[in-house]
Amino acid sequence: MNRLCDCGQQMELDLRTVIYSHRIKIERVPVFACESCSHFEVLPLIKENLLSLIAELNIVSGIHKVLFTEICDIADIIDDVFRHQTDDIGSPIEQLLNDKIEERINLLLDLYRYAQELGDTDWMEDVSNRLGQITEHLQHFQTMDRNVG
Ligand SMILES: [Zn+2]
Repeated sequence: MNRLCDCGQQMELDLRTVIYSHRIKIERVPVFACESCSHFEVLPLIKENLLSLIAELNIVSGIHKVLFTEICDIADIIDDVFRHQTDDIGSPIEQLLNDKIEERINLLLDLYRYAQELGDTDWMEDVSNRLGQITEHLQHFQTMDRNVG
């Protein structure tokens, strides 16, 4: 899961606040951050999510403050893993993330079946989009594990 910074140091997964145009504040965005210089970059797979959120908020005037964990499953999962990391000492963060992502996929599949029973097509579409995105993340994390190991 680690990535090298331009300065040569290892970058670590972290949650940061992103501020855009002094009026859009998005909290708990997953990033890779370098501890030795102040460089950080948004996780590639959530970048599109983040940019479309910023574009959406940007056309509405006023000041916006959003918790990214409330609109992005993967941010929510990373947040959850960080909060409970101390309970699971010994398990590598990749393992915890994989477990949580699989848990979330099962939950979304249940939701999808429920929406299907209700015949709620909007909800089905929403859940299926979330499933698509999160599955992509799982594959991405697993690929990174393989690259590291
Ligand atoms: Zn650096």
